[in-house]
Amino acid sequence: ITLNNSTLTTIPSGIARPRYDRSALAAGILHIGVGNFHRAHQAWYLHRLMQQGLSHEWAIIGAGVRPFDEQQRQKMRAQDYLTTLIELDPSGRSAEIVGSMIDYVPVQEGNVPLIERMAQPDIRIVSLTVTESGYYVDPATNAFNAAHPDIVHDVQNPDTPQTAFGAIMAALRLRRDRGHGPFTGLSCDNLQGNGAILRQTVVSLARLSDPELADWIDQTCTFPNSMVDCIVPATGPKELALVRELGVADDVPVSHENFRQWVIEDKFCSGRPAWDKVGVTFSDRVHDYETMKLRILNAGHQIIAGAGELLSIDTISGCMAHPGIASLFSKVETEEIAPFVVPVPGMTPESYINLIGERFRNPAIVDTTRRVAYDGASRHAGFLLPIMREALATDGSIDGLALVEAIWARMCHGTREDGSLIEPNDPNWMELTRISAAAKEKPQVWLDQRHIYGDLGKNARLAVAFEKWLKLIWDTGIDATLKVYCGKD
Ligand code: NAD
Repeated sequence: ITLNNSTLTTIPSGIARPRYDRSALAAGILHIGVGNFHRAHQAWYLHRLMQQGLSHEWAIIGAGVRPFDEQQRQKMRAQDYLTTLIELDPSGRSAEIVGSMIDYVPVQEGNVPLIERMAQPDIRIVSLTVTESGYYVDPATNAFNAAHPDIVHDVQNPDTPQTAFGAIMAALRLRRDRGHGPFTGLSCDNLQGNGAILRQTVVSLARLSDPELADWIDQTCTFPNSMVDCIVPATGPKELALVRELGVADDVPVSHENFRQWVIEDKFCSGRPAWDKVGVTFSDRVHDYETMKLRILNAGHQIIAGAGELLSIDTISGCMAHPGIASLFSKVETEEIAPFVVPVPGMTPESYINLIGERFRNPAIVDTTRRVAYDGASRHAGFLLPIMREALATDGSIDGLALVEAIWARMCHGTREDGSLIEPNDPNWMELTRISAAAKEKPQVWLDQRHIYGDLGKNARLAVAFEKWLKLIWDTGIDATLKVYCGKD
């Protein structure tokens, strides 16, 4: 059945659908970057509220600044902006149709329709998912990258900008001049301090052409930090076939895991939906929630992916089904990471470790070992090494963390234990491969990579433990090494 408003009542009965009158919804949020994640996460939370008869004046208007977004608009318009969500639960899948989006702004060069829509007084929140690298931040310094050609363009053409931030700035100028007041800028991208980064980008851009406007934005708009979590794979032929099997002709369905989390600072200058009624956590401690996620989930991914790659295990759930890798995960997390994670309300580090273990084990989610092992140089430095530094500074154990580094060093040799080749999987793969080969004879050269290990390269405790593990891996293999570490040999 083709998906649209008129067919909603006839779709197969096992699929949940909006119970509210969509024609009576009014706009409150404009979202830039209507990819998969937004529809499985933020649009779903709002839909839950609407199902309870609440927040009908907060419906979403879709928007975007890229050619992808116009294609997405055409497809979503044809189905009245409805999305089929398929939940991939280990005990079976289920589906529901989400109706919280009611319109989509035409995507045009110069972004005039987008600016005009954001300037309307009914829009009180502008939210974004434009990817981690979409904020014009210099990765080395975390500062605003004013020299980027897109930003230079927007400074020179403030009424016809290219970037989402140029459009936000132009809309806020109109609102100020028309007396419509500010809106809240809500980043939902996976960045630490995403609200602070969004504020920095918008205010710094405004300062380059209109310092008074920059001050007005800085003083009147709010940019809450938020932590978002839900694994949402890209939609491919498998997902399209799945939705057809369910009996719905949706051209842009979304699949997702059976877990969601959203923690937001309660700083909304022009009101917000009652998200707290549907499981969103409002907290001043977003940073602690983020730290828990980065140190246990993201570092946890790095703990298991290297061993999985070496043992030719394709998926994260497959890694967790391997007894040695599963023991590595729980021993390192419990003994060496949990001591450096503070509890958050309702969740101890130990209970979060169990939750992440369960999510990683979900075989319905096909998350590849290769995707998770990608860019280890940034991810080890970002997720694991800060924990190692704290452990060394407080005389804590680092034996397991050193083993994880040795496994990664062995993986970067570019060969699996069955002799097959690992395709390049890091922006600097050739260099890593060369150093890994040298480290086989002289382990210290691996730790001497200053751009990754910094001061840790000189630490004697790390050097001793790393050398012991790397030698054991080369001499006896991963399986035997994991048994030694986990005390089963
Ligand atoms: P997607 O590829 O489905 O959609 C990305 C959207 O961002 C598109 O609308 C695209 O046009 C837009 N975009 C990309 N680069 C841009 C830029 N430079 N400027 C403006 N718009 C840009 O991806 P997704 O799965 O929706 O994920 C988007 C973001 O959501 C991620 O980068 C991440 O920060 C966050 N997130 C995703 C997941 C997940 O599992 N997919 C989980 C947590 C957080």
